Amino acid sequence: MMIVMQPGADAAEVEAVRARLAQTGVHVVVMPGELTTAIGAIGDPEGVAELGLEGMAGVDRVVPISRPYKLASSELSHHEPSRFEIAGRTIGGGETFCLIAGPCTVESREQTMAVASAVVAGGASMLRGGAFKPRTSPFAFKGMGQPALEILAEAREQTGLPIVTELLDAEHAAAVASVADVVQIGARNMQNYALLEVAGRLGKPVLLKRGLSSSLDELLMAADYVLKEGTEEVILCERGIRTFETATRFTLDLGAVPWLKMHTHLPVVVDPSHAAGDRRLVQPMSRAAAAIGADGIIVEVHQDPEHARCDGPQSLHAADFADFASDVTAHARLGGKSLA
Ligand code: PEP
Ligand code: MN
Repeated sequence: MMIVMQPGADAAEVEAVRARLAQTGVHVVVMPGELTTAIGAIGDPEGVAELGLEGMAGVDRVVPISRPYKLASSELSHHEPSRFEIAGRTIGGGETFCLIAGPCTVESREQTMAVASAVVAGGASMLRGGAFKPRTSPFAFKGMGQPALEILAEAREQTGLPIVTELLDAEHAAAVASVADVVQIGARNMQNYALLEVAGRLGKPVLLKRGLSSSLDELLMAADYVLKEGTEEVILCERGIRTFETATRFTLDLGAVPWLKMHTHLPVVVDPSHAAGDRRLVQPMSRAAAAIGADGIIVEVHQDPEHARCDGPQSLHAADFADFASDVTAHARLGGKSLA
């Protein structure tokens, strides 16, 4: 932590800050400059943050030096990218590309089996599908709930694909964990800290979606909430953020991918479907994500998107999935990754 004094701060004010810091046991270095004095506090940034130094006479600002996220950071311990095995599929580690595909929402057994067999035939690494759906309107279809979990379990049995499904509410934790190979936390729940802690205690990998209006620092601090419960397996997901641009459903922040690669050891996947809101954009955005170094994509697919109960306009036609998958995989190879 660095405390920057105001230009007019006098020696007594500098000394008061130094003494307050010294009380906490941190190492204090006073650096007088031509205009202002800076005071470095080395060690225990949390304790220093709680001292309320901003309010002391003569203090201009308090500037953190180390990053606010700890467990997700590649700065402190994990210098190498993390790599997890999920039911035989590798995610992370820099050599594999993970293709997660499936319907937005489980609507029926027939629909889910049709999509699951199309995506496994096309080379998907995992099957996605919502049982409990976060919907902007409380009157929209909220998913089939428990019966959808049973359908997903059956789809796994038939295809061998691990299942990615969302945990919407702590109340469903045991039911979701009994079927999910990866527990998804939706964008709208990225800062539901109590739910993040519940997810971190399930003993399952967690796919954490970036909030609609969350910064990358906030995403990594949300990941810390999950990691601190003991799981080491958190997958980050860029799924588009709110900007002034309304032509696409959200704005895909592709810069997030290389930025996250520099700052965290956790695998990063991209969701082009929710970012685009329009299936015509999904393939070019997926290619870009693969080429820029994402560890995978999570994409919505439906066998009859015109009649989908949720997110049909952004869902790929199941019949197009194999071509889509080979095109995107070719782009992942540009970054040295092959299909998981
Ligand atoms: C989803 O994956 O279907 C979903 C609701 O995503 P998000 O939380 O990113 O909106
Ligand atoms: Mn969806």
